[in-house]
Amino acid sequence: MSFLSATLDRVKPSPTIAVTTKAAELKSAGRDIIALGAGEPDFDTPENIAKAGQQAIADGKTRYTAPDGIPELKQAICDKFQRENGLTYTPKQISVGTGGKQILYNALMATLNPGDEVIIPAPYWVSYPDMVLLAGGEPVVVEATLEQDFKMSPDALEAAITPNTKWLIFNSPSNPTGAGYSWDELKALTDVLMRHPHVWVMTDDMYEHLAYDDFTFCTPAQVEPALYDRTLTTNGVSKAYAMTGWRIGYAGGPEHLIAAMRKIQSQSTSNPSSISQWAAVEALNGPQDFLAERADAFKRRRNLVVDAMNAIDGITCPTPEGAFYVYPSIKGLIGKSTPGGTVIDTDETFVSELLETEGVAVVFGAAFGLSPNFRISYATSDAALIEACARISRFCNALQ
Ligand code: GLU
Repeated sequence: MSFLSATLDRVKPSPTIAVTTKAAELKSAGRDIIALGAGEPDFDTPENIAKAGQQAIADGKTRYTAPDGIPELKQAICDKFQRENGLTYTPKQISVGTGGKQILYNALMATLNPGDEVIIPAPYWVSYPDMVLLAGGEPVVVEATLEQDFKMSPDALEAAITPNTKWLIFNSPSNPTGAGYSWDELKALTDVLMRHPHVWVMTDDMYEHLAYDDFTFCTPAQVEPALYDRTLTTNGVSKAYAMTGWRIGYAGGPEHLIAAMRKIQSQSTSNPSSISQWAAVEALNGPQDFLAERADAFKRRRNLVVDAMNAIDGITCPTPEGAFYVYPSIKGLIGKSTPGGTVIDTDETFVSELLETEGVAVVFGAAFGLSPNFRISYATSDAALIEACARISRFCNALQ
């Protein structure tokens, strides 16, 4: 019998983390690598936020806190939900964790029993299905193709619901496609949920502030207030405030669920870093005007990458509404061969050959549940993006 837990046989390591690690290794070995794998802003954490972290250290705010967050941060989160989403939560309905990841994980651990199903629209963020499996549940993947703009239809949602369905995980704008559901599109989904009172919805609103053109972000409990009592609205400071390394995510939801999540956190990691929590208070309460400026920069980069991808024979790249990812299809390249004779049979082969030949790190589509595609994170400098797109183009044009 293996020394390791049998649960581990059900899951795989995170492919986004694997690509990021591989790119960093190649770089430190002296290779010229452009890393478009990890989804993290290249901007620095704004100065006022970083200073709040330094001040917390200077003030000795370096001790344990309540396991799921300091009162000041919980209040700042309640204010944020009210101000930006029209959602009323009290501090007892707020949980703060070490990144959005821990919040989602705690919620699944706190609610799933063997046989419980969780509906996950694909393409999905790599960690959703594996977190469900770790928590003992069953992921039910509902595919949304490029022709559907990567958005799940109400009929598909309806068809996926069974008596065992516990959650729908809803992520808009989406990692990895950038697809964002409009108010009406989301309302059509919440209408389905209204017909199935046993199904809860767990949102992942991490990309809320990365919305472009005329797309306006909305979240399920806002669009359908009657769902409030069975919604966990999750978010975090990582992407909007360029704070990925600080690890602060949070959620608002029914008190009994928040209490169950606290129980898990109190027996595992305890509180998220006290210093990061104070920085997050400043992020949420401080000036917000730089968010729009940064979104403008991301929009420019999105346009640059979408245009460059669509100019390549064999690649189709829709223009996403938000986040900082694009998810081009490489259907037109499958079956072709590299000059070295490797057949591009899958998107996984495509990305590994691309990394090998041109030093561009991206993530293969199979990791996100829809192939043949790949994900580009364009949260990097314009210069790096221009060079990366030129390399991707050269790589694709060399395929026969
Ligand atoms: N969410 C980011 C990504 O998709 C960070 C890495 C991760 O935690 O998966 O790249």
